[in-house]
Amino acid sequence: MLTAVCVLAPALAWGSSAMDASIAEIRDQVKYVPDKALVQLQKMEPAARAAPALTKAEFLSQLSSAWRSLGQLETALLLSEELVAFGRAQNSQEILAKGMLTKAYVLSSMSERKASHQLAFEAEKLANGTADLALRVQATITSGQSYAEQGNFPAALGKLQTAVDLGRQLDDMVSLAQALNALALLYTQMKEYDKGWEVLNESVRVAEKLNSPGRLATAKSTEYGLAIDSNQPRRALAALQSALDVARKMGAKTLIANTLVNLSDSYLKEHDYPRAVRYANEALAASDDTRDPGTRATALANLGQAYLGMGNIPEGKRNFEAGLVHYEKTANQPELQIILKEYGQALERAGDYRSAVAAYHRERAISESLFEKQRQEAVYEMQEKYETEKKQRQIESLSRENQVKSAEIDNRRLQQRVWWLLAVVFALASVIVGLLYRKVRHANAQLEVKNLELKAQSSLDPLTSLYNRRHFQEFMRTHNHADKRGQGGEDIVGALFLLDVDHFKHVNDTYGHAAGDIVLKMIADNLRVALRETDMIVRWGGEEFLAFLPAIPRSGVEEIARRILNSISSQQIAYQNHTFSVNVSVGFAPFPLIPADTPLPWERAVNLVDMALYLAKAHGRNRAYGVRGFERFHQTSMEAIEQDLERAWRAGYVELSVVLGGAPEAPPPPGEHSNVVPLKPAAKA
Ligand code: GH3
Ligand code: MG
Ligand code: MG
Repeated sequence: MLTAVCVLAPALAWGSSAMDASIAEIRDQVKYVPDKALVQLQKMEPAARAAPALTKAEFLSQLSSAWRSLGQLETALLLSEELVAFGRAQNSQEILAKGMLTKAYVLSSMSERKASHQLAFEAEKLANGTADLALRVQATITSGQSYAEQGNFPAALGKLQTAVDLGRQLDDMVSLAQALNALALLYTQMKEYDKGWEVLNESVRVAEKLNSPGRLATAKSTEYGLAIDSNQPRRALAALQSALDVARKMGAKTLIANTLVNLSDSYLKEHDYPRAVRYANEALAASDDTRDPGTRATALANLGQAYLGMGNIPEGKRNFEAGLVHYEKTANQPELQIILKEYGQALERAGDYRSAVAAYHRERAISESLFEKQRQEAVYEMQEKYETEKKQRQIESLSRENQVKSAEIDNRRLQQRVWWLLAVVFALASVIVGLLYRKVRHANAQLEVKNLELKAQSSLDPLTSLYNRRHFQEFMRTHNHADKRGQGGEDIVGALFLLDVDHFKHVNDTYGHAAGDIVLKMIADNLRVALRETDMIVRWGGEEFLAFLPAIPRSGVEEIARRILNSISSQQIAYQNHTFSVNVSVGFAPFPLIPADTPLPWERAVNLVDMALYLAKAHGRNRAYGVRGFERFHQTSMEAIEQDLERAWRAGYVELSVVLGGAPEAPPPPGEHSNVVPLKPAAKA
């Protein structure tokens, strides 16, 4: 399949391009010698109708044009409509545009100017959407000419200049020749003669290059118009004569008719009325042959003008008015305006002033309506431009607003994000702080407990759970130990007792250190039982204990010493199949001790008690020695007493009492009974 297509394609392309070439060749003939062209076109019709769509379309267009040039407008119209329908069926913009242009030419020839213009503009829009450059040039020229016919010269100029620019891009210069000719005609109409000549010269050069007599004739005819309007009658005439020669050689009937009309026109301007009449009549005959109403109308107007020039007013008016009918019907306002002006001038010259004035009035009315139309168009154009600019400004300001708004929104979003972030950070921080605070509080509580524990531990002895020496010192430092007097005159005093285990080394050595510890615990327990809760019991040193009794009757101090001695020595200690008991020695004194008027500091009191304990040891152990008071204190000093308690006692400065323990282990020294109170010195040293 694929191979077949590939083989077929070039054959088809060659076939259609050969057909395209012959249609292109006929194109020039269609314009200038349509009768000859028609014969050829009809010959190729069966093949052309079977050709590819674009080739067929070009054929139909040329066939319609040929019939149009021959004045067979109905046939031309039908063909153009067939082409439009074909374009629609093919869904082809190119063909549709070509059909519309073809129809526009027919409608123009039928003097349906308005419909023609409309189609031309639509065709141009369609054509511009295609890649067919020749078609675009054609459509742009037609739309430019339509604007010119409406009297909208600026729009026409824009279109025709575009057409020339586009035409230059094509290899085939026919399109360029057409565009240049149309532009030269427009410049003539606009009285821009210099530009007109410039364009015309190029147009002539292109026609020569094309080697097309038809194009050359057309250029000459355009040259005529330009020359005559720019006041160069000789050049105008020469151009016409050469155009007529070319046209006659070609047998181009339409062109011949046109040239004849122009010749009559030119002789009118020379005021050569007989010649003008002759050429006008020739033109009339030629236009009858070509069935071209435009040429015919101009011929009639020229004939009328010529008669008027010759003073034949009725004949002149009749012919002129007959020509004007066509001009008025075609609604080609600028052309009509020129004709009316010429009519008025001719009537004026002929002396028919009333008719001249009427013609001038008609001319003025058209001029004013044209002026108004142009003014309105200018206003519309300005409005359109203004609206466009306004819209552009609106769009710009809207987009600026948009930018500002979106920037604001971005900003707000960013702010919100920052706030959220702060809130999250704050919440997290609060949670962390809360957790830390709880932890710290918990730690503080624990610390407090620990501190309490520590404090308790630091004031207690771990082995016996009695107060330690530091606690006692602290207690003594912070408490006031004023002499307390009991009710009913009873002498209430504080008292200090210092204990030391007798031969404790022996216990350790005999039963072991652990047994020693048990003994110490036993002593602590017994002291707690023997004393009151309010009494302070202290582990003073290794196997030394101190008891501070804050308030007891002075008379009961010895009794307490005895209780201490007996409660300890009466205990049997069982340890690893051994049973034993221990004694203690005690030193004691009331507290505070007041030798003269000032109480002794507690340290010195304890020191004195320690000396009494030493005496108890020295005098046999298992006994308690107490300082009861001082006598003749003024004869001695506290320092002397503290240096040697025994001597002070013997000298009678200190009163001692002794309490003997009840245990059998250590019998009291000779001469001392158990429970003797007070102890008198044996003799004065
Ligand atoms: P004295 O009758 O003269 O007091 O004789 P002593 O053996 O008690 O002599 P000393 O006071 O010199 O000896 C005390 C001993 O007590 C010395 C030490 O080994 C012992 N000791 C001190 N503290 C402790 C203790 O906490 N546990 C035990 N098991 N022994 C201790
Ligand atoms: Mg000791
Ligand atoms: Mg001891």
